[in-house]
Amino acid sequence: MALYITRNGKQFGPYSLTEAKEHVRSGNVVMTDLAWQEGLPNWVPLNQIPGFASVPPARVPSPTPPATPTIPAPLQGSRPQKTFIQNLWGWIVAGVVALVKFKFLIFGALKTSLSMLLMIWVYSWMFGWQFAAGLVFLIFVHEMGHVIAAKWLGMPVSAPLFIPFIGASIIMKQSPRDAWTEALMAYGGPFAGCVGSWICWFIALQLQENWVMAVASVSFVINLFNMIPVPPLDGGRICAAISPWFWIIGLLLLGASVIYFHAWNSIVIIVLVLIWAFPRIKQTLFGQTTPAMQAYYNTHISNRFTMALMYIGLIAALLLGYWDASNHLSHLSDY
Ligand SMILES: [Zn+2]
Repeated sequence: MALYITRNGKQFGPYSLTEAKEHVRSGNVVMTDLAWQEGLPNWVPLNQIPGFASVPPARVPSPTPPATPTIPAPLQGSRPQKTFIQNLWGWIVAGVVALVKFKFLIFGALKTSLSMLLMIWVYSWMFGWQFAAGLVFLIFVHEMGHVIAAKWLGMPVSAPLFIPFIGASIIMKQSPRDAWTEALMAYGGPFAGCVGSWICWFIALQLQENWVMAVASVSFVINLFNMIPVPPLDGGRICAAISPWFWIIGLLLLGASVIYFHAWNSIVIIVLVLIWAFPRIKQTLFGQTTPAMQAYYNTHISNRFTMALMYIGLIAALLLGYWDASNHLSHLSDY
């Protein structure tokens, strides 16, 4: 297991356990120096790392650090001074999060049913109540996909919260342990949404009802939009387990989808998405790599392939559904 050690504010490593013990014996490293290895949430004094308590320290600790190739990285916990822009970002993100949490509090015990009713009301006013109820139900199916996936992974989450025009969201009560877990939880939503939309498509064919097919069509699009590989969209979380570099493709797709669907009124949502996602994208792709971050994104190669296949498969199923549903709708509107 690779071990990193900080000495006089500088980071050294990775070392094997044997190498690190050798540095302790030679006096290059003292037991109170901070160390980190995969699986640890924080840096701890070296004597708290299993196997080090028994290592006899050198009589005279030398002030020179070990002469081994180094990976410089900032010390966890001691953050560099923030610029004004970084502070501003912090405040904007905190504001958005506070807004979401405030809404969450308002709805209280009735949060799910009440916010769902509010959303039905807003959409009914625009499209008619049947369409609205059907669509909100399918959004509920999507969110329950996340909840079931989270339960399956043993992660605590809140009940879904519905916000008119924006959709629904669930709030994670605990950060996922790695990119793979986050990807599986993200996948549950659009997967359930896709299955639900296809069932809706089947019902629409049986009943020969225009509005049911419209619900299926819009639901396919909503789930497709969520598959765009930019965090915090589900696709962004899924692709982080393949490679976070997919986010660049996602940013381009996001811009293209606004133009293609003439979704000018979703600019607000996209701006919110970008405000939320920007710090993570910047830190992950262009920031300094920390051991904790390396460990988080260190997905096994076979899992990367599995997730890539699952991702492509789901997009294909959603595209096929959307294509067929809109074909049915265009035939119906010809009469
Ligand atoms: Zn989702």
